[in-house]
Amino acid sequence: MAKIKKIVKTIKVDADKCNGCRGCEIVCSAFHSTPRYSGINPARSRIQIIRHPLKDIWLPVFAGEYTPAECMGRETYIIDGKEYDECTFCRATCPSRDIFKEPDSGLPLKCDMCEDDPPREKPMCVEWCLNEVLTYEEREEEVEESQEAQDVEIGLKAMMDKYGPDKIADALARMAQKGQQ
Ligand code: SF4
Ligand code: SF4
Repeated sequence: MAKIKKIVKTIKVDADKCNGCRGCEIVCSAFHSTPRYSGINPARSRIQIIRHPLKDIWLPVFAGEYTPAECMGRETYIIDGKEYDECTFCRATCPSRDIFKEPDSGLPLKCDMCEDDPPREKPMCVEWCLNEVLTYEEREEEVEESQEAQDVEIGLKAMMDKYGPDKIADALARMAQKGQQ
């Protein structure tokens, strides 16, 4: 099977440095508003700070894949004596919770590492986090060409089943409009 080179982009999170200022949420939502930088709404952000102030927990989590299924069980993590609730580390947009959903349409949000044209040197949230919680890295990997295409196909089918073609077409039209600005 043919292999292709792919740039894998990673953001490392040093959670102990996060003070919950939510600057990352603000800048992400501004960058992804239409027109760009026209508004701020942290509910539209692709990074969310999971907050438990009484437990001294401020954890940045990035929006990942959409899934139509809820988990059959939940986990609780204890790290350095701090107890993290179920779902805290999960990046999925799923039916169990409200985060990572576009507030108007309910469509799933996903971190795009701030794709832009020309490409940005660093994602917005990394650039604007003043506490150096977020570190951006790139590496090259070889992947199988057909697997890449298959993953996209499965994701699209799940979204079509859940939201229907009209909502998806609407979202694509808005994305295309943003790309022209
Ligand atoms: S900008 Fe940095 S310190 Fe502020 S909430 Fe986001 S990750 Fe935490
Ligand atoms: S990398 Fe860009 S799209 Fe992803 S959470 Fe950060 S600002 Fe938002």
